Amino acid sequence: MGSEAADTGLRERIEGLMGQVRAELAELVAIPSVADPRQFPPEECARAARWVRDAFAGAGFTDAWLAEMSDGSQAVLGSRPCPDPDAPTVLLYAHYDVQPPLNEAAWRTPPFELTEVGGRWYGRGAADCKGNILVHLAALRALGDQVPVNLKLVVEGSEETTGALEEFVPGNAGLLRADAILICDSGNAAVGQPAVTVSLRGVADVIVGVEALTSELHSGLFGGAAPDALAALVAMLATLRDDRGNTTIPGLDNTQVWRGAPYPAETFRADAGVLEGVSLLGDGAVADMVWSRPAVTILGIDCPPVDGSAAAITPRASAKLNLRVPPGTQTGEAAEALVRHLRAVAPWGVRVTTEIEAPGPPFAARTGGPAYQAIEAAMREAYGRPMVTLGDGGSIPLCNVLADAYPDAELILMGVEEPLALIHAPNESVDPAEIAAMALTEALFLQRYAAIRR
Ligand SMILES: [Zn+2]
Repeated sequence: MGSEAADTGLRERIEGLMGQVRAELAELVAIPSVADPRQFPPEECARAARWVRDAFAGAGFTDAWLAEMSDGSQAVLGSRPCPDPDAPTVLLYAHYDVQPPLNEAAWRTPPFELTEVGGRWYGRGAADCKGNILVHLAALRALGDQVPVNLKLVVEGSEETTGALEEFVPGNAGLLRADAILICDSGNAAVGQPAVTVSLRGVADVIVGVEALTSELHSGLFGGAAPDALAALVAMLATLRDDRGNTTIPGLDNTQVWRGAPYPAETFRADAGVLEGVSLLGDGAVADMVWSRPAVTILGIDCPPVDGSAAAITPRASAKLNLRVPPGTQTGEAAEALVRHLRAVAPWGVRVTTEIEAPGPPFAARTGGPAYQAIEAAMREAYGRPMVTLGDGGSIPLCNVLADAYPDAELILMGVEEPLALIHAPNESVDPAEIAAMALTEALFLQRYAAIRR
């Protein structure tokens, strides 16, 4: 049997499974598995966990079970050994918890009722990440008994909140150990344009406080000579970018260039909702700015609010800054550089306090190994065009945890969450064609990876 024949059969089988995919995705989306007990009862997450466990048990993970995490959430774990003793092991990842609907009034369809509009399926979690759960299930069902690798499974239930799986992995490394890990919680550059994400930025928060006076002072009697803590803070924050919007922190390289697929400026403007007439920032291309260079965002400022403010000079003020750094930069060192810079530019001898919170490292996938060869070939065959590599300006701490626990494993980030999916926003949706093509990709990958490794 040649690969052509195998492909044709798989493609048709997945096409034939799409009715079931839709029905099951509708069941799963109807469970509001928001992992925040203040917003939704924890029983909803428990229901989703049981649904996922039972679905994968039916797809050959006969030992599928619920593992209790430190935050009380449950991860669905399982394994599906293959008779060939030399077969490699592939870990399938997804999560069943979802973001809250947020602004319900902004939804055009009920958030927990899968609804088709214009060929897309709308609902909270339809893409992130329940659509990816259906990708795994459709791939497995299309392959039937012919899965030529050992499979392991983890579908976690607190990815959007505590990330408790990150704590679980080091102490339970044997359960998830694999040669290749398919982290299906990402997406293509656009519908029909296959991609894997190979780079994530690291993140750290820095809180900076400024103090100049013992208390508020009348701005008429003292203004002009009294040092104003808020003015000092504003001056310090203003030095974090140059006129063109480049992040300017001594010691942090702001010239690196992205080597993978571009992020077209017009697409970015639309994705980001940038108002007409407002410029994008930085001297680099969009992909350079969001994937390869550092960025500082001012998350919040503590100072008197406009309503209720008095004619007084502010004695103290503080800001929370969010720093993102690309692979190749140590997050902790970058945060220290930011702190040194803030202290150096503080005017008038004001007192400065700083605090660095929870630095998380950047991630760069090790590409070029057998799993990457196999996914590249699988995507080309499934989509009929070559795969590209993307970055992600955000952070997925689990990737670093898995890379540390399994230094020899190849991590592949992919999935159905392309930009139109609007994950985490109102009106989240998934393109069913992406579910079908990703499922075909995954099935072809499992075949090809086994063949390459043999
Ligand atoms: Zn997700």
